[in-house]
Amino acid sequence: MRITGIEIPPPSCLASVRVTRAEGDFRQKLIEQFVSDVDDAESLERHRKLERTEEWLSTRDELEVWRVGCPCGDEKGKIFGVGVDQEFSAPVFYGCTKCAARGLIFDPSLHGYNAETAKKKKKVRAAPPAKAALHCRGCKTTVWRPAVVVTYQGEPPNIAPGRGLQDYFDAILIGGQCIGCSNFALRYSAECA
Ligand SMILES: [Zn+2]
Ligand SMILES: [Zn+2]
Repeated sequence: MRITGIEIPPPSCLASVRVTRAEGDFRQKLIEQFVSDVDDAESLERHRKLERTEEWLSTRDELEVWRVGCPCGDEKGKIFGVGVDQEFSAPVFYGCTKCAARGLIFDPSLHGYNAETAKKKKKVRAAPPAKAALHCRGCKTTVWRPAVVVTYQGEPPNIAPGRGLQDYFDAILIGGQCIGCSNFALRYSAECA
């Protein structure tokens, strides 16, 4: 569903970190990491070939990009997860490099479409400690200007009372801009629907 233009609030999984809507070049560079110009053009081409009656919607219009920082005001930080056999997995935390504050970004048992629509009551699953810091593939730096992309593909969900559309994301991607080499990357992703 179209998210651009509706000013959706940040999802509640980002409640313990400082969140700002990503704008300008920073936003565009991260979106390109997820949906390249080629991907976008191919999607439009497929849509035209199928002669669909509904308007074509770019995946780029079905997402929001949030910058994640520290309540202390710092916009840099590390991204921690559980490291098992070279794999980086959830839960994912933000860690400030200035004041050492730490905040949860994403736990699949609590956040996203499936967690919101699950019949059973949510509970925090026992996970190994999230000690692995996500590093840049280019320069191995572990400090980022962190960002989160959440997507809302498909039909609008049935929203439970007291909840908001922003919490029904079907995918989440976590990364940002590397402080060392300035590259943009989305290094963690999860399907939530
Ligand atoms: Zn801080
Ligand atoms: Zn780098």
